[in-house]
Amino acid sequence: MVKKGRVFSGARPTGRQHLGNYFGAISNYVALQEEYDCVYCIVDLHALTTLESTRDLRKNTLEMAWDWLAAGIDPVKSIVFVQSMVRQITELHTILSMVTPLGKLTDLPTFKEKVRENPHNINYGLVGYPVLMSADIVLYKSNFVPVGIDQSPHIEFARETVRSFNFRYNTNALIEPQAKFTSFPKIMGIDGVNKMSKSLNNDIEIAATPEETTKLVMQMVTDPQRQRRSDPGNPDVCNVFSLHKIFTSPEQVASINSECRRAGIGCVDCKKMLAANMNDYFTPLRARRMEFQKDPDVTWDMLRDGAKRASVIAETTMVEVRKAIDLP
Ligand code: SF4
Repeated sequence: MVKKGRVFSGARPTGRQHLGNYFGAISNYVALQEEYDCVYCIVDLHALTTLESTRDLRKNTLEMAWDWLAAGIDPVKSIVFVQSMVRQITELHTILSMVTPLGKLTDLPTFKEKVRENPHNINYGLVGYPVLMSADIVLYKSNFVPVGIDQSPHIEFARETVRSFNFRYNTNALIEPQAKFTSFPKIMGIDGVNKMSKSLNNDIEIAATPEETTKLVMQMVTDPQRQRRSDPGNPDVCNVFSLHKIFTSPEQVASINSECRRAGIGCVDCKKMLAANMNDYFTPLRARRMEFQKDPDVTWDMLRDGAKRASVIAETTMVEVRKAIDLP
Protein backbone atom coordinates (compact mmCIF):
# COMPACT_ATOMS: atom_id res chain seq x y z
CA MET A 1 0.00 0.00 0.00
CA VAL A 2 1.33 3.43 -0.96
CA LYS A 3 1.65 5.55 2.17
CA LYS A 4 0.15 9.03 2.28
CA GLY A 5 3.29 10.73 3.60
CA ARG A 6 5.47 10.81 6.67
CA VAL A 7 4.13 11.46 10.16
CA PHE A 8 6.38 12.52 13.01
CA SER A 9 5.53 12.62 16.66
CA GLY A 10 7.61 12.79 19.80
CA ALA A 11 6.90 12.50 23.50
CA ARG A 12 9.03 13.08 26.56
CA PRO A 13 10.16 9.99 28.45
CA THR A 14 7.66 10.09 31.28
CA GLY A 15 7.94 6.42 32.22
CA ARG A 16 4.89 4.22 32.51
CA GLN A 17 2.02 5.64 30.50
CA HIS A 18 -1.46 6.35 31.80
CA LEU A 19 -4.92 6.27 30.25
CA GLY A 20 -4.59 9.90 29.16
CA ASN A 21 -1.35 9.17 27.28
CA TYR A 22 -2.90 6.08 25.75
CA PHE A 23 -6.09 7.63 24.40
CA GLY A 24 -4.50 11.04 23.75
CA ALA A 25 -1.55 9.81 21.72
CA ILE A 26 -0.51 6.15 21.69
CA SER A 27 -3.68 4.64 20.21
CA ASN A 28 -3.55 7.27 17.47
CA TYR A 29 0.12 6.46 16.80
CA VAL A 30 -0.88 2.83 16.32
CA ALA A 31 -3.73 3.67 13.94
CA LEU A 32 -1.63 6.03 11.80
CA GLN A 33 0.87 3.30 10.99
CA GLU A 34 -1.52 1.75 8.49
CA GLU A 35 -1.67 4.74 6.17
CA TYR A 36 1.47 6.72 6.91
CA ASP A 37 5.19 6.27 7.16
CA CYS A 38 5.54 6.95 10.88
CA VAL A 39 8.51 8.22 12.87
CA TYR A 40 7.97 8.06 16.63
CA CYS A 41 10.56 9.51 18.92
CA ILE A 42 11.11 9.52 22.68
CA VAL A 43 12.42 13.03 23.12
CA ASP A 44 14.90 12.70 25.97
CA LEU A 45 16.78 15.92 25.13
CA HIS A 46 13.57 17.89 25.60
CA ALA A 47 13.24 16.37 29.03
CA LEU A 48 16.57 17.93 30.06
CA THR A 49 15.06 21.42 29.87
CA THR A 50 13.01 20.85 33.01
CA LEU A 51 14.39 17.75 34.73
CA GLU A 52 16.10 18.37 38.03
CA SER A 53 17.69 14.93 38.04
CA THR A 54 18.42 12.59 35.14
CA ARG A 55 18.78 9.57 37.42
CA ASP A 56 15.68 7.84 35.98
CA LEU A 57 16.00 9.05 32.40
CA ARG A 58 17.00 5.71 30.86
CA LYS A 59 14.53 3.81 33.02
CA ASN A 60 11.69 6.14 32.04
CA THR A 61 12.68 5.90 28.38
CA LEU A 62 12.54 2.12 28.55
CA GLU A 63 9.24 2.01 30.47
CA MET A 64 7.65 4.30 27.92
CA ALA A 65 9.04 2.29 25.00
CA TRP A 66 7.53 -0.87 26.54
CA ASP A 67 4.10 0.73 26.69
CA TRP A 68 4.40 1.98 23.11
CA LEU A 69 5.49 -1.39 21.78
CA ALA A 70 2.96 -3.33 23.84
CA ALA A 71 0.19 -1.03 22.60
CA GLY A 72 1.00 -1.95 19.00
CA ILE A 73 3.54 0.57 17.76
CA ASP A 74 5.42 -1.65 15.36
CA PRO A 75 9.19 -1.00 15.25
CA VAL A 76 9.39 -2.65 11.82
CA LYS A 77 6.51 -0.81 10.19
CA SER A 78 7.44 2.49 11.90
CA ILE A 79 10.70 4.06 13.00
CA VAL A 80 10.79 4.12 16.79
CA PHE A 81 13.83 5.57 18.52
CA VAL A 82 15.26 7.89 21.14
CA GLN A 83 15.95 11.50 20.17
CA SER A 84 19.51 11.68 21.52
CA MET A 85 20.55 8.58 19.55
CA VAL A 86 20.47 10.61 16.33
CA ARG A 87 23.29 13.13 16.71
CA GLN A 88 22.23 15.32 13.76
CA ILE A 89 19.36 16.69 15.86
CA THR A 90 21.65 18.96 17.87
CA GLU A 91 23.32 20.22 14.70
CA LEU A 92 20.01 21.15 13.07
CA HIS A 93 18.79 22.69 16.32
CA THR A 94 21.83 24.99 16.38
CA ILE A 95 21.37 25.94 12.73
CA LEU A 96 17.65 26.65 13.08
CA SER A 97 18.28 28.74 16.19
CA MET A 98 20.16 31.20 13.93
CA VAL A 99 17.01 31.92 11.90
CA THR A 100 14.75 32.30 14.95
CA PRO A 101 14.24 35.74 16.50
CA LEU A 102 14.65 35.58 20.27
CA GLY A 103 11.57 37.76 20.86
CA LYS A 104 9.40 35.28 19.04
CA LEU A 105 10.46 32.57 21.48
CA THR A 106 10.02 34.57 24.65
CA ASP A 107 6.60 35.78 23.49
CA LEU A 108 5.25 32.26 23.13
CA PRO A 109 2.55 31.39 25.69
CA THR A 110 4.20 27.99 26.20
CA PHE A 111 7.46 29.68 27.24
CA LYS A 112 5.65 31.89 29.73
CA GLU A 113 3.87 28.83 31.10
CA LYS A 114 7.18 26.94 31.47
CA VAL A 115 8.72 29.92 33.27
CA ARG A 116 5.80 29.88 35.70
CA GLU A 117 6.27 26.13 36.25
CA ASN A 118 10.08 26.29 36.58
CA PRO A 119 10.87 29.72 38.03
CA HIS A 120 14.25 28.55 39.38
CA ASN A 121 15.49 26.91 36.20
CA ILE A 122 14.92 29.23 33.25
CA ASN A 123 17.69 27.88 31.08
CA TYR A 124 18.66 28.59 27.48
CA GLY A 125 17.28 25.20 26.39
CA LEU A 126 13.87 26.10 27.78
CA VAL A 127 13.75 29.21 25.60
CA GLY A 128 14.88 27.27 22.54
CA TYR A 129 12.52 24.36 23.14
CA PRO A 130 10.28 25.16 20.11
CA VAL A 131 13.36 25.34 17.89
CA LEU A 132 14.43 21.86 18.98
CA MET A 133 10.88 20.69 18.40
CA SER A 134 10.91 22.16 14.89
CA ALA A 135 14.26 20.46 14.25
CA ASP A 136 12.74 17.14 15.36
CA ILE A 137 9.96 17.48 12.82
CA VAL A 138 11.94 18.70 9.83
CA LEU A 139 15.06 16.57 10.31
CA TYR A 140 13.03 13.52 9.29
CA LYS A 141 11.35 15.25 6.32
CA SER A 142 7.96 14.90 7.97
CA ASN A 143 4.81 15.94 6.15
CA PHE A 144 2.39 15.70 9.07
CA VAL A 145 2.39 16.05 12.83
CA PRO A 146 -0.63 14.69 14.73
CA VAL A 147 -1.82 17.34 17.17
CA GLY A 148 -4.85 18.49 19.06
CA ILE A 149 -6.26 21.84 17.92
CA ASP A 150 -4.68 23.61 20.94
CA GLN A 151 -1.20 22.62 19.76
CA SER A 152 -1.49 24.14 16.29
CA PRO A 153 0.73 27.16 17.24
CA HIS A 154 3.65 24.71 17.64
CA ILE A 155 3.24 23.51 14.09
CA GLU A 156 2.83 27.04 12.82
CA PHE A 157 6.10 27.91 14.57
CA ALA A 158 7.85 25.00 12.81
CA ARG A 159 6.40 26.07 9.45
CA GLU A 160 7.63 29.65 9.93
CA THR A 161 11.07 28.35 10.93
CA VAL A 162 11.24 26.28 7.76
CA ARG A 163 10.20 29.27 5.66
CA SER A 164 12.83 31.47 7.34
CA PHE A 165 15.55 28.91 6.73
CA ASN A 166 14.58 28.16 3.13
CA PHE A 167 14.27 31.88 2.31
CA ARG A 168 17.52 32.87 3.97
CA TYR A 169 19.54 30.17 2.23
CA ASN A 170 17.54 30.13 -0.99
CA THR A 171 16.78 26.44 -0.77
CA ASN A 172 13.97 23.91 -0.50
CA ALA A 173 16.00 21.66 1.77
CA LEU A 174 13.41 21.72 4.55
CA ILE A 175 9.80 20.61 4.20
CA GLU A 176 6.99 22.63 5.79
CA PRO A 177 5.05 20.21 7.99
CA GLN A 178 1.29 20.29 8.32
CA ALA A 179 -0.79 19.71 11.40
CA LYS A 180 -2.84 16.55 11.30
CA PHE A 181 -5.69 17.41 13.61
CA THR A 182 -7.11 14.64 15.69
CA SER A 183 -9.76 14.87 18.36
CA PHE A 184 -8.92 12.94 21.49
CA PRO A 185 -11.27 12.06 24.32
CA LYS A 186 -10.33 14.19 27.34
CA ILE A 187 -9.39 11.78 30.09
CA MET A 188 -9.89 13.19 33.56
CA GLY A 189 -7.92 11.96 36.54
CA ILE A 190 -9.36 9.91 39.37
CA ASP A 191 -10.05 13.20 41.20
CA GLY A 192 -12.61 13.91 38.47
CA VAL A 193 -11.51 17.56 38.36
CA ASN A 194 -8.14 17.69 36.61
CA LYS A 195 -6.90 16.14 33.39
CA MET A 196 -5.19 12.82 34.09
CA SER A 197 -1.57 13.56 34.91
CA LYS A 198 1.30 11.75 36.54
CA SER A 199 2.47 14.92 38.28
CA LEU A 200 -0.96 15.38 39.87
CA ASN A 201 -0.88 11.77 41.03
CA ASN A 202 -4.39 11.21 39.69
CA ASP A 203 -3.50 8.72 36.98
CA ILE A 204 -4.15 5.07 36.18
CA GLU A 205 -1.28 3.38 34.36
CA ILE A 206 -2.22 1.20 31.42
CA ALA A 207 0.21 -1.47 32.61
CA ALA A 208 -0.98 -1.42 36.23
CA THR A 209 -1.95 -4.80 37.66
CA PRO A 210 -5.67 -5.65 37.74
CA GLU A 211 -5.59 -5.15 41.52
CA GLU A 212 -3.93 -1.72 41.26
CA THR A 213 -6.39 -0.70 38.55
CA THR A 214 -9.40 -1.78 40.59
CA LYS A 215 -8.09 0.00 43.68
CA LEU A 216 -7.69 3.27 41.77
CA VAL A 217 -11.06 2.99 40.04
CA MET A 218 -12.71 2.46 43.44
CA GLN A 219 -11.16 5.78 44.56
CA MET A 220 -12.64 7.72 41.62
CA VAL A 221 -14.81 10.70 42.35
CA THR A 222 -18.36 10.26 41.03
CA ASP A 223 -21.38 12.58 40.91
CA PRO A 224 -20.67 14.79 43.95
CA GLN A 225 -24.40 15.35 44.54
CA ARG A 226 -25.02 11.64 45.06
CA GLN A 227 -24.50 11.18 48.78
CA ARG A 228 -26.36 7.90 49.45
CA ARG A 229 -27.04 4.73 47.49
CA SER A 230 -30.73 5.66 47.40
CA ASP A 231 -30.05 9.06 45.75
CA PRO A 232 -30.50 9.19 42.00
CA GLY A 233 -27.22 10.05 40.26
CA ASN A 234 -26.30 12.10 37.22
CA PRO A 235 -23.99 10.24 34.82
CA ASP A 236 -23.48 13.43 32.80
CA VAL A 237 -21.23 14.84 35.55
CA CYS A 238 -19.60 11.56 36.54
CA ASN A 239 -16.10 10.66 35.42
CA VAL A 240 -16.74 6.95 36.00
CA PHE A 241 -19.48 7.15 33.43
CA SER A 242 -17.18 8.98 30.97
CA LEU A 243 -14.76 6.07 31.18
CA HIS A 244 -17.57 3.53 30.82
CA LYS A 245 -18.23 5.11 27.43
CA ILE A 246 -14.72 4.02 26.40
CA PHE A 247 -14.44 0.62 28.05
CA THR A 248 -18.00 -0.68 28.26
CA SER A 249 -20.38 -2.02 25.65
CA PRO A 250 -23.05 0.42 24.36
CA GLU A 251 -25.81 -1.78 25.88
CA GLN A 252 -24.19 -1.68 29.33
CA VAL A 253 -23.57 2.07 29.01
CA ALA A 254 -27.24 2.63 28.19
CA SER A 255 -28.26 0.51 31.14
CA ILE A 256 -25.94 2.35 33.59
CA ASN A 257 -27.21 5.65 32.24
CA SER A 258 -30.83 4.84 33.05
CA GLU A 259 -30.21 2.82 36.23
CA CYS A 260 -28.00 5.53 37.77
CA ARG A 261 -30.67 8.18 37.22
CA ARG A 262 -33.24 6.13 39.14
CA ALA A 263 -30.79 4.90 41.82
CA GLY A 264 -31.06 1.39 40.38
CA ILE A 265 -27.30 0.91 40.51
CA GLY A 266 -24.84 1.92 43.23
CA CYS A 267 -21.51 3.61 42.56
CA VAL A 268 -19.55 0.71 44.06
CA ASP A 269 -21.04 -1.79 41.60
CA CYS A 270 -20.70 0.69 38.78
CA LYS A 271 -16.99 1.15 39.53
CA LYS A 272 -16.40 -2.60 39.88
CA MET A 273 -17.90 -3.05 36.43
CA LEU A 274 -15.63 -0.33 35.02
CA ALA A 275 -12.52 -1.82 36.61
CA ALA A 276 -13.34 -5.26 35.21
CA ASN A 277 -13.89 -3.87 31.71
CA MET A 278 -10.72 -1.79 31.90
CA ASN A 279 -8.71 -4.81 32.99
CA ASP A 280 -10.19 -6.90 30.16
CA TYR A 281 -9.31 -4.18 27.68
CA PHE A 282 -5.67 -3.99 28.75
CA THR A 283 -5.05 -7.70 29.35
CA PRO A 284 -3.44 -8.36 25.91
CA LEU A 285 -1.33 -5.19 26.14
CA ARG A 286 -0.10 -6.13 29.60
CA ALA A 287 0.82 -9.63 28.45
CA ARG A 288 2.84 -8.25 25.52
CA ARG A 289 4.56 -5.80 27.86
CA MET A 290 5.61 -8.62 30.17
CA GLU A 291 7.32 -10.27 27.22
CA PHE A 292 9.30 -7.11 26.41
CA GLN A 293 10.21 -6.66 30.06
CA LYS A 294 11.93 -10.04 30.17
CA ASP A 295 14.92 -8.69 28.27
CA PRO A 296 15.48 -4.91 28.22
CA ASP A 297 18.41 -5.34 25.80
CA VAL A 298 16.00 -6.48 23.09
CA THR A 299 14.12 -3.20 23.42
CA TRP A 300 17.32 -1.12 23.45
CA ASP A 301 18.41 -2.94 20.28
CA MET A 302 15.04 -2.12 18.66
CA LEU A 303 15.45 1.54 19.60
CA ARG A 304 19.03 1.58 18.29
CA ASP A 305 17.86 -0.02 15.05
CA GLY A 306 15.15 2.66 14.78
CA ALA A 307 17.80 5.32 15.38
CA LYS A 308 19.95 3.90 12.58
CA ARG A 309 17.04 4.12 10.15
CA ALA A 310 16.19 7.62 11.39
CA SER A 311 19.84 8.67 10.99
CA VAL A 312 19.77 7.82 7.30
CA ILE A 313 16.91 10.30 6.73
CA ALA A 314 18.54 12.81 9.10
CA GLU A 315 21.86 12.72 7.25
CA THR A 316 20.12 13.18 3.89
CA THR A 317 18.49 16.33 5.28
CA MET A 318 21.72 17.58 6.82
CA VAL A 319 23.69 17.12 3.59
CA GLU A 320 21.17 19.41 1.88
CA VAL A 321 21.17 21.86 4.80
CA ARG A 322 24.99 22.10 4.98
CA LYS A 323 25.18 22.55 1.20
CA ALA A 324 22.56 25.32 1.27
CA ILE A 325 24.49 27.20 3.95
CA ASP A 326 27.89 26.42 2.43
CA LEU A 327 29.16 24.55 5.43
CA PRO A 328 31.88 22.00 4.71
FE1 SF4 B 1 -21.38 7.59 38.35
FE2 SF4 B 1 -22.00 5.06 38.10
FE3 SF4 B 1 -22.33 6.29 40.45
FE4 SF4 B 1 -23.92 6.87 38.41
S1 SF4 B 1 -23.76 4.90 39.43
S2 SF4 B 1 -22.90 8.36 39.75
S3 SF4 B 1 -22.52 6.68 36.67
S4 SF4 B 1 -20.40 5.88 39.41
